[in-house]
Amino acid sequence: MKVFKFGGASLKDVNAIRNVASIIKQNTKENLWVVLSAMGSTTDALEKIIALSQAGKNFDNELSHLKEYHFNITRQLFNNTTTIDQAIHSLFNQLTPTASIAGEYDCIYDQVIGLGELVSSTIVCHFLQQGGLDAEWVDARNLILTDSTFREGQVQWGETEKKIKSVYPHLKKLVITQGFIAHNEKRETVSLGREGSDFSAAILGYCLHAESVTIWKDVPGVMSADPKRIADAVVFEELPYKETAEMTYYGASVIHPKTVKPLAMRNIPLLVKSFINPSLPGTKIHDCHVPNLPPLIVHKEDQCLISCKVTDYTFINEDHLGTIFQALHQNGMHVNVMQNSAISFSFCVDYREHRVLKLIELLSKKFEVFYNTGLLLITVKNYSPQTFNEYRNLKGVILEQSSRAALQVLVKG
Ligand code: ASP
Ligand code: MG
Repeated sequence: MKVFKFGGASLKDVNAIRNVASIIKQNTKENLWVVLSAMGSTTDALEKIIALSQAGKNFDNELSHLKEYHFNITRQLFNNTTTIDQAIHSLFNQLTPTASIAGEYDCIYDQVIGLGELVSSTIVCHFLQQGGLDAEWVDARNLILTDSTFREGQVQWGETEKKIKSVYPHLKKLVITQGFIAHNEKRETVSLGREGSDFSAAILGYCLHAESVTIWKDVPGVMSADPKRIADAVVFEELPYKETAEMTYYGASVIHPKTVKPLAMRNIPLLVKSFINPSLPGTKIHDCHVPNLPPLIVHKEDQCLISCKVTDYTFINEDHLGTIFQALHQNGMHVNVMQNSAISFSFCVDYREHRVLKLIELLSKKFEVFYNTGLLLITVKNYSPQTFNEYRNLKGVILEQSSRAALQVLVKG
């Protein structure tokens, strides 16, 4: 069996959905599980609705836009929209934030945020059925079990695998399900983190010992750099798991960072292919050795550099570092690059305003804290002498660091 995953961009309008349906149709000889994201930027719209509702503000406008976006799609896709529109109405009615959903912000967020995936998978499944395919809609919340870390559920692998294996033989050959959502022991919805649908596909692929997992993208495969930034970026035919995992760690957004590990553990190939041109070979990520990889360039935007300076004439010591890392851990933050000098310790994190400000407040109790936002972190893996010099000498570099494997520069503006 195989697993396919389609993201929001591949489902953003009627033509895109028709294209996805035709890719699915051409691959139904063997068992196929299809993992779908929410259509277009539905998840962003839902985030906004949740924020408004939690702030006690009116979100009628945003909600009716979102409904209309989906009904506009069903009007064009279906000969008769009665059944599908009823199904969508009922999903919206169940999941629209109301006063009856109780709990902390993150819990409420998760009870609502998966609506986009539930609606998109319902539309696509009905559309495939209208086209004569024997497709079965499966609720991913009955498959993947996580703990109760809302917005970043930690998968309970043993239970999840048991569950998926037990339902698999009873399902049709073609299964349509959602990415991004799971459930906890209390049967509440728990999401796997933004852009987590790739990870959902990897979880299913792992549990089902899939022959392969394919992520369909709007690029021809995994590339040596973002083609929007670097015109001569090349597409890789194949890449080792480890190289790919490291690229995602540095911020390559082509696949979610958690996707590679479960597949590597079972030696399941991960294919990254273009939904715009499915006949292109794409990139095969598997257990291989690729000699002479070209430099890989990863851009990570919206970075914040925080510097903690000791104020009492001591030097930065392990006790200080302990305090800083404790505070980072407490705020669920991750360091992208770090550097120390005699009296200060600097590190770079993704700029999530709320968390960064909380962190700075904590650290200010012990240090003099400075910070810079709006920075760009560029990582050059497998650099050549030429790329090394080129990136070190970029205008606006405020921090630089290199090892034998990678050069990182943090750039202003
Ligand atoms: N729809 C979710 C998001 O936009 C999950 C995903 O697309 O992977 O974050
Ligand atoms: Mg998405």
